[in-house]
Amino acid sequence: MKYSPVQNYVNGKFVAASTSKTMEVISPLDGNLLSTVPMSTAKDLDEAVKAARAAFPAWSKTPIKERVQVFFRYKYLLEKHLKELSELVQEENGKTYSEAVAEVEKSIELTEFACSLPQLVTGEILEVSKGVECRTEHVPLGVVASIVPFNFPAMVPNWTIPNAIALGNCMIIKPSEKVPLSTARLAQLLKEAGLPDGVLNIVNGDSEIVTAICDHPGIEAVSFVGSTKVAKIVYQRATQNYKRALALGGAKNHLMVLPDAIPGMTAQNVAASMSGCAGQRCMAASAMIGVGNVDSIIDKICEEARKIIPGENLGAVISKESKERIERYIGEAERDGAKILVDGRNAKVKGKENGTYVGPTVIDYVTPNMSVAKEEIFGPVISIIRTNTVDEALAIENANPYGNAASVFTQNGGMARYIIDRASAGMIGVNVGVPVPREPFSFGGWNESKFGVGDITGKSSIEFWTKLKKSTTKWNAESGVNWMS
Ligand code: NAD
Repeated sequence: MKYSPVQNYVNGKFVAASTSKTMEVISPLDGNLLSTVPMSTAKDLDEAVKAARAAFPAWSKTPIKERVQVFFRYKYLLEKHLKELSELVQEENGKTYSEAVAEVEKSIELTEFACSLPQLVTGEILEVSKGVECRTEHVPLGVVASIVPFNFPAMVPNWTIPNAIALGNCMIIKPSEKVPLSTARLAQLLKEAGLPDGVLNIVNGDSEIVTAICDHPGIEAVSFVGSTKVAKIVYQRATQNYKRALALGGAKNHLMVLPDAIPGMTAQNVAASMSGCAGQRCMAASAMIGVGNVDSIIDKICEEARKIIPGENLGAVISKESKERIERYIGEAERDGAKILVDGRNAKVKGKENGTYVGPTVIDYVTPNMSVAKEEIFGPVISIIRTNTVDEALAIENANPYGNAASVFTQNGGMARYIIDRASAGMIGVNVGVPVPREPFSFGGWNESKFGVGDITGKSSIEFWTKLKKSTTKWNAESGVNWMS
């Protein structure tokens, strides 16, 4: 085992969980055992919540301009440890090194945004009638929780940690049991950056801890990022317990290619979108709708896909189960009559026979009722559906239950606007394969890709992590008391 067993992080210290039940942390790159992670209990969560609640009065009363100094130093530490962190992300998640670097760089950008929060939360003040002022302030909620998935071990924790904490909250984070190592390292860097003990706590585990988070009376708000199935469970349970909740779910992103799209650029973007991070991005293109005759673009997409080599410029998928699931989807599509143009099944990487790789896969002549057209595959697979008109393409996109992202490739500005107006997704791209908004714009989908109000990053997150205090004040200058005399 390469690393010592993962522990929880409570009140600034790594501590053992109250259970001997653990899970193995396996590197998807080669199947090697990296560490073990404890399946903590509600008792462990309770300890963490106590530490967070004890830290809250001092942290929330620290002026925000002082609080963000921690994140200026944290940003510097992320930069200083970029290589080491990227290697850790790559090792536990299986993505390529350059993808891991991009993820840590995005974490830096998220931290930069948190450093700008004092400029954004100044509140409002107005004399509403003679001598009477109304004023608003953003007040932190208390102890908040963040439950995160496996696919971005550093970036998704940084969607929530910097903003929630800079805004004055204390946090419990529950990493994915598949990739718990990066979060532990982030906590060490935050401590080095000067974050007081107890402000950030990590409780490792599986669904039992997630349930305990939703039920714990000491937690005010729960953010979740993961699959739609679990997002629904978390949103329902947390709100039933009267907590504020924001739960981001899965995705099935549609990318519409019109006949006037620039072939080379479109093909590169489609191939990169469907295969980046081995297709394990909630923003990955999963279904491509070819409108009219786009045969030459599809040929180029296949050419691009064939340049993507597992173990070289394509990482591994997270587990054996994931690999089997993805390959099952490809097999089903084939049986249902779709045509596999590039087949990524049975990919092997020399010297890494226990790694879990799936090669890039392009499936043509998919019909909207096939499972590869409807369900989230979360692998490097693109399913091509052909239509005659843009409205047919939009009808297919609109009918899918998710709503994270949609993109269009065209040179016609009017047509692009038509699609932006009608696509049913929170994040839309025009000639962009992965339309992730960059800070200060916020990240969040629609429909079954997100439950709750507002977005998880950017300016929108301020509303989620704070509550508004409205004060009305009247100073009776005429009351006769004159302290100045
Ligand atoms: P997941 O839903 O399986 O797990 C997410 C978290 O929930 C983990 O911490 C896990 O321990 C916990 N969990 C798992 N099953 C649970 C249960 N039954 N009850 C309570 N908690 C449970 O997701 P994943 O496989 O880690 O991540 C991949 C999914 O996340 C994909 O569906 C992807 O689209 C989605 N995702 C969405 C976004 C977004 O912004 N919308 C971003 C990243 C990932």
